[in-house]
Amino acid sequence: MDYVLYTHSLISLIDRFAVFANDEIDHMVKNTNSDLRTEAFTLFEALYNQSTQDGSLLEELPVFFISLDNKFTAQQTRNKALSAALANWWLEWSFVYSMQAKVITNSPVTVQNITHLTQGNTQPMRQHELSHYANLFTQVPIPLCNVSTVTGDIIRLNQRFVDVFGYTIKDIPNMDTWWLKAYPDPAYRSWVLQTWNTAVEYAVEHKTDIEPQHYQVTCKDGRLITMEISGIYIDNEFLAIFKDATQRMEAEDILRDMAFLDSLTQIANRRRFDEKLIQEFNLSIKTNSPLSLILIDIDNFKQFNDSYGHLIGDECLLKVAQCISTAVSRPEDFVARFGGEEFVVLLPQTSAAGACNVAQKIQHAISELTIIYDHCFTNKVTLSLGINTRYNQCDHIQLLDGADKALYKAKEHGRDCIVVNQ
Ligand code: GH3
Ligand code: MG
Ligand code: MG
Repeated sequence: MDYVLYTHSLISLIDRFAVFANDEIDHMVKNTNSDLRTEAFTLFEALYNQSTQDGSLLEELPVFFISLDNKFTAQQTRNKALSAALANWWLEWSFVYSMQAKVITNSPVTVQNITHLTQGNTQPMRQHELSHYANLFTQVPIPLCNVSTVTGDIIRLNQRFVDVFGYTIKDIPNMDTWWLKAYPDPAYRSWVLQTWNTAVEYAVEHKTDIEPQHYQVTCKDGRLITMEISGIYIDNEFLAIFKDATQRMEAEDILRDMAFLDSLTQIANRRRFDEKLIQEFNLSIKTNSPLSLILIDIDNFKQFNDSYGHLIGDECLLKVAQCISTAVSRPEDFVARFGGEEFVVLLPQTSAAGACNVAQKIQHAISELTIIYDHCFTNKVTLSLGINTRYNQCDHIQLLDGADKALYKAKEHGRDCIVVNQ
């Protein structure tokens, strides 16, 4: 290492940039595409190529930069700041160059045509950076996206990113475009921005990684995929890492549905109802709002089975369940198979009068459905319905018991009718 040449060249570079204001220097140091960084790299490369490399440069640099720093007085704060920045870069670049030499000798793999993945690669330091880890970055089978936190520019993407999302660097040159394209729905986008920014702030504050979180990303062809996105900070850049969660979420959904769905009637099962009842019951206490429950039982179903056979009985159960589901229209209402030929409807924020209306609607819908039942005096399948509404000091078991009592009375009253528990 030629100390005189190094000292002379670096002091001249520092002097030229020390005329700028502190904040301008700070910005140039942070900005990977600044003139300062570009010129510094050009100089680094020239000096690197001039000297014969015996592998000792990395060891000599720390001592050299201490002596360089000592050439400035304590008052020359800008010169000292620049000298410190150059010291970091020189170490980084020398390290990368030594690595590159190893990569080139050890690996015959070359990277071709990566212009759709990266921008600013005409910058000399970009070229050298790419040359040493582009292979790894490009070929790793996980979508990756490298972003400048200073400018918000997307510096590079890897091939997997393009394969998965369809966007090239031209489509999404910066984060602003990414937000717009990946999350076209404004309401969802604002949630994503808020969630992501909170995760970033936490990561910066605690000097840790950006916590993984699920996001629904819109691909270039309009497909929606669920991605678990996390990130790591590297100086003034971060690397966003994408993990496909679509299949896992779908599998989880299927398993959840299987655990909570009644296979015969295709509506929620008793287990799901038990959970939902407690959930809605507690919510109605918290919000001080009414909660009504309708217990429904098919009339004389044993005889229906005896007359038409169990298979037709099963068909009837499916039709009745689907008919009740359709008749109950609000999204917050909940229908489940309670067991055997009994069904239950949970109606949050609904008074006894409101529940009566729903019960009538169900009764009417079943009558319209007209499931033939010759041996019955109505000639078609009918229901008995019992209604109960939450009152003070009642627990969820009592809510259910009250509906059961009302249902019993409906049976006593000759079936095909609705009774409200008083
Ligand atoms: P009520 O009007 O008093 O309700 O008389 P019911 O005959 O409907 O009541 P009961 O409790 O005596 O009989 C219910 C019948 O429902 C008995 C059972 O065979 C039938 N059942 C229960 N689960 C199923 C099922 O999954 N498939 C079929 N086909 N029948 C079922
Ligand atoms: Mg029954
Ligand atoms: Mg019955």
